[in-house]
Amino acid sequence: MNSENNLYTFYVNPRIPVKLEKLHKLSYNLWSTWDKQAIKLFNRIDPIIYRQCAHNPVMLLHRISPKSLEELAHDDGFISELERVWTGFNNYLSYKGYYTDSDGRKQKFGADDHIAYLSMEYGLHESLPIYSGGLGILSGDHLKAASDLALPLIGFGLLYKYGYFSQTMDVNGEQQESWNENPWHLLPVDVLSDEEGNHKLLNIKIREEKIFIKVWYITIGQVTLYLLDTDIPENTKQNRSITHRLYDANRSMRILQEIVLSFGTIELLESLGISPKVYHLNEGHSAFVIIERLHRLIKKEEYSYPEACQIVANSTIFTTHTPVAAGNEHFGIEMVAKYLKDKIESIGISFEEFCKEGAIPGDKTNFWLPALALRFSRYANGVSMLHSSVSRKLWHKIYPTLTVDEVPIDHVTNSVHAQTWLSNELTYLFDRYIGADYLHAGEESSIWQNIKKIPDIEIWEAHQRRKEQMISFIRQHIDQSCLNNKSSVLISQKLRNTLSPDILTIGFARRFAPYKRANLILEDQERLLSIIKNRHKPVQFVFAGKAHPADPEGKRLITNLVEFARTHDIEDRFVFIENYDINVAKHIVQGVDVWLNNPIRPFEASGTSGMKAGLNGVLNLSVLDGWWPECYDGNNGWAITVGEDYENQEISNQLEAHQIYDLIEGEISDLYYHRNESNLPIGWIQKMKHSIYGVGMGFNLHRMLRQYLNGYYLKGMQSHKELIKEDRKLLKEVIETEQEIMKYWDEVNIKDFTLKIKEHDIPLHSASSLKSGDIVSVESYVTLGNASENLIDVEVYYQDLTNSNFKIFKLDFQERYKDNVARYYGEIELESSGLHGVNLRIRGRNHPYLQGQYNHIKWKE
Ligand SMILES: *Cc1c(COP(=O)(O)O)cnc(C)c1O
Repeated sequence: MNSENNLYTFYVNPRIPVKLEKLHKLSYNLWSTWDKQAIKLFNRIDPIIYRQCAHNPVMLLHRISPKSLEELAHDDGFISELERVWTGFNNYLSYKGYYTDSDGRKQKFGADDHIAYLSMEYGLHESLPIYSGGLGILSGDHLKAASDLALPLIGFGLLYKYGYFSQTMDVNGEQQESWNENPWHLLPVDVLSDEEGNHKLLNIKIREEKIFIKVWYITIGQVTLYLLDTDIPENTKQNRSITHRLYDANRSMRILQEIVLSFGTIELLESLGISPKVYHLNEGHSAFVIIERLHRLIKKEEYSYPEACQIVANSTIFTTHTPVAAGNEHFGIEMVAKYLKDKIESIGISFEEFCKEGAIPGDKTNFWLPALALRFSRYANGVSMLHSSVSRKLWHKIYPTLTVDEVPIDHVTNSVHAQTWLSNELTYLFDRYIGADYLHAGEESSIWQNIKKIPDIEIWEAHQRRKEQMISFIRQHIDQSCLNNKSSVLISQKLRNTLSPDILTIGFARRFAPYKRANLILEDQERLLSIIKNRHKPVQFVFAGKAHPADPEGKRLITNLVEFARTHDIEDRFVFIENYDINVAKHIVQGVDVWLNNPIRPFEASGTSGMKAGLNGVLNLSVLDGWWPECYDGNNGWAITVGEDYENQEISNQLEAHQIYDLIEGEISDLYYHRNESNLPIGWIQKMKHSIYGVGMGFNLHRMLRQYLNGYYLKGMQSHKELIKEDRKLLKEVIETEQEIMKYWDEVNIKDFTLKIKEHDIPLHSASSLKSGDIVSVESYVTLGNASENLIDVEVYYQDLTNSNFKIFKLDFQERYKDNVARYYGEIELESSGLHGVNLRIRGRNHPYLQGQYNHIKWKE
């Protein structure tokens, strides 16, 4: 009902001519938004309307007239192009997913081998504003690549009524936000119906109240993303608004969003008759899924609480993205109690007891979702090597029996979906020169090596075309904002000449979170001006990015940049483009020459915009944070390094800014402006190729996905299946093992141990000098009490303290004496030189499927 004039509203779809049925089908599969041939096909229909529709094929088909549709249906050239794209689409869909088993053989997935992937945001396309930044882009790319590789993965998220805000700048350079209602019926999204054709309606119960959920879905190649929506008449006004806004700032609303995502996903899966073998929680927001899974396993499948915990933990994968504790999702205990106490108690565990699973030692008032996720995940990872080591420190408190280096948070470095982010021009060159099946390639260097075969001039021309495209895009964009702002004709005239394709161009586009230091470049304005205005080697800058609506500091950064350009009358060389989104991002990462990234280390967990740039031959100039230390090799871009060792942020800022100026003024512009007789910057092009090669090979999403698949998904699937097969035999064994360990745990202790140089049989502490290569014999006496010697392992923990490398050796059981003390013996080789450390510990017997083993570790005091 339209409240203003009481009209009953409904939506009418365009009548698509029979001959265009395939076009209509294509429009509803997101494949058409990243496949270059499909994009060309839709663009051909009406380039202007297509652009106005944010390249959304569904809206395009709504917007063009029935007459034009009829004409298209009779346009032989169009129909034959449609057929070609349709064939490409079907080829794409016919790719069969596989995994490689331990003998190296390709295997098909079983019909029930599903992976459920949960995320609060998905950045799939500029017409679907249900993302705010890098996390969403990553989830979107994850699903696209899962489709490319035909993995049995299903995505789950929320359908937000309002898109993440649109940004405009007012005349004072201040960010204005508008929240537009998403026109779902004009987007490539469908409503899920039941067998009778009625909209499927789910419900979940929170505090004795039913919340109804309507389900939508997006088809992404071969993968489905389900989006849950509470904005339906069956719900109360309050509950309708749960899915109104991404990351609602109201805490009650936020916890409800996360409950709807978690519980709704499980409810939906059950109604679809799908029982995933693994659940991948992308960031902590969806960790309540653990509670609902426990609930179902216990209430419906009659598992005991400890059994359910083992199943959930064996089949959960958690990816953490936030290197700052406070930035991780948490709620006051009372709030969790308010919404979830009855659910938790229905599992048969007291609320207080369960709160320990979400606790961080030292904080009695909050429930932390990542803590819950970590305790219930067999596999946890950070999103770059550096970030995982930061995460191990951050979450060490949850694993008090482990050393920080042992904290089980591994890394899988983020990546980007190449087909989405690679420019048309480079796609064309890839198709011709890389050959082979690079669409499905992961890390095979033999494939990516072929980049080097592309002639210099072709790479350069492709890049220049992208740069010109970007500039024309920016000029149009600015024209539009001048119109919106009613700026004077004079200003518009000048800005129409914004940027020059012949000037070295540096890009910076990302969320304006303060740690990203968008204004670092303004540190010394005089120096910056002299760089921009350099007569022989001028430089121009392009910025874009949104500040969080509730972040005044972030907003101030934008204003700083805009004011700087205005004050010095260089708005045509120092440009801020409003409304950063996927479309703006694509233009900039493909069109600038250098990608600047200067976060405060180590707060950029991974960063992906630099990968998009690097893949397009745009050279990174970046702090060695996130992914960059894993890619940078001295030949594929530049590193900003000088600020790392300073505690004082002001000093770091100054030093790093000046290093950036030095690099730009020196090496970077020298290389860029140094041309051969054909006016090609040969040295620069070598670096571009090297960058494309390194990023293409190491940071394409297929590499990442294979890592998740081989490292986590397959293992999770396998252990989930093993545990419950043959009447849950293995699961019972796991529980018995755990119970037995617990029963005798207080009785076992390391009494003492001795370390001797084996060769001379003298104690380590009296040895005059130790050398690497020496063998140390370790002998230990352990009190077993009533425990069987099979119940425990005695381990030596041996660490090189200069680099944190550690090794764990198991000692061999020797004999048991009458007083229940047992002797253990082993040898270690001193491997490197430097300061080393050793200690001994007892560990409950290792069972490959027993989770939470770190609870059963006891060190020699
Ligand atoms: C890639 C991308 C991001 C993430 O960029 P970072 O490198 O993590 O800052 C954010 N927003 C959009 C629109 C993007 O395309």
